[in-house]
Amino acid sequence: MIIVLLGPPGAGKGTQTGPLARKYQIVGISTGDIFRFNLNAGTPLGLEAKNFMNQGLLVPDDLTCRLVEDRLSQPDAQNGCLLDGFPRTVYQAEELEKYLAKKGQKVDYCLLLDIPEKELMARLTGRRVCRSCAAVWHLTFSPPPANLVCDRCGGEIYQRDDDGEVAASNRLKVYQAQTQPVVDWYKAKGTLKTVTALGPPAEVEKAIIKAMS
Ligand code: ADP
Ligand code: ZN
Repeated sequence: MIIVLLGPPGAGKGTQTGPLARKYQIVGISTGDIFRFNLNAGTPLGLEAKNFMNQGLLVPDDLTCRLVEDRLSQPDAQNGCLLDGFPRTVYQAEELEKYLAKKGQKVDYCLLLDIPEKELMARLTGRRVCRSCAAVWHLTFSPPPANLVCDRCGGEIYQRDDDGEVAASNRLKVYQAQTQPVVDWYKAKGTLKTVTALGPPAEVEKAIIKAMS
């Protein structure tokens, strides 16, 4: 089973990916997390992606598509996967379709996490994440441990560079301009299911599972 999770920055894709991937026993693949791990580790890929990410811009399509194809060719992705943060442009959606078609596969579900735009800035600027395992908290809605040490893995909890006001507001604009057309693209294919992403994570998770059954 191949699932694509779509939605604006702050909709909660990263929060839902872990639980959903476990439930459906497929691997969760987040391009944002992969880029961030590379950025934190100072790899060549991280250095290439860094300036785009920190400004809230998309990493170029060719680099992103190469990364995803490489990840999808690994053994743990052969049972299916949950894609978080990819595709984000119509070009990426078309490349993914071509890549999967070569393997006789397709995207089974595209789930859109739908949320009023006014909620998003507060969600983004209050977000904190674990540097090591990518777990997510929010200063107001689900506060992290006071010592800022991840209770799942012992990693450091920090604020992403692109969760500051300027980059976060850029990301929302980039979403409207470049990723909203991807929503329409999946809608036209008949694969899109829309789920309301307001409310506690556990409720959103239930709504997603219901949309898929
Ligand atoms: P969010 O969905 O909260 O904006 P992500 O963690 O998914 O954040 O992505 C963070 C950044 O990583 C993006 O702003 C972008 O620079 C880069 N990125 C992630 N996925 C893609 C993609 N599919 N194409 C291009 N850039 C991407
Ligand atoms: Zn952690």
